[in-house]
Amino acid sequence: MTPVIALVGRPNVGKSTLFNRLTRSRDALVADFPGLTRDRKYGNGLLGNKAYTVIDTGGISGDEEGIDAAMAEQSLAAIDEADIVLFLVDARAGLNVADEAIANHLRVNQKKTWLVVNKTDGLEEHSAMGDFWGLGLGDPWPIAAAHGRNVSQLIDLVLEPF
Ligand code: GDP
Ligand code: MG
Repeated sequence: MTPVIALVGRPNVGKSTLFNRLTRSRDALVADFPGLTRDRKYGNGLLGNKAYTVIDTGGISGDEEGIDAAMAEQSLAAIDEADIVLFLVDARAGLNVADEAIANHLRVNQKKTWLVVNKTDGLEEHSAMGDFWGLGLGDPWPIAAAHGRNVSQLIDLVLEPF
């Protein structure tokens, strides 16, 4: 079965930029679904000989009232559907209270979760990741979705068990 990768995180961290990069093949299929799922976008990609499906989500509100408020329904649905969750945070904005709320949810979720620090272009990788170690989701993985930095290396690792 084709592994499904969900992209989650608060708005503006670069989820759609990463989605576009991961699905740029001409086979990419982007569809809108009605109802609760209307804000999820599905696409297909290929790395080497491995096919995968990616789900983009509209983002999480950033509300500070806890996970129910902070996490949009389609993001939860995307996590449910996924085999792998890429949790994106923004190296330029730094750690945000919404990131912590999302991390709290993901830590108790059974899905394999990767902490991905985007927008590291022009930044020194180690210091860019400084704050994010504290999220308790393991090693932060630095990328620059807009430029492709570390992206195929990440997807290669993520797909290894599949
Ligand atoms: P989303 O709301 O999480 O889907 O974020 P978008 O993909 O729409 O990106 C939000 C903004 O961040 C846009 O202006 C992007 O051009 C910018 N952005 C995305 N990835 C990168 C990156 O790797 N480096 C930099 N510097 N900007 C980025
Ligand atoms: Mg987006």
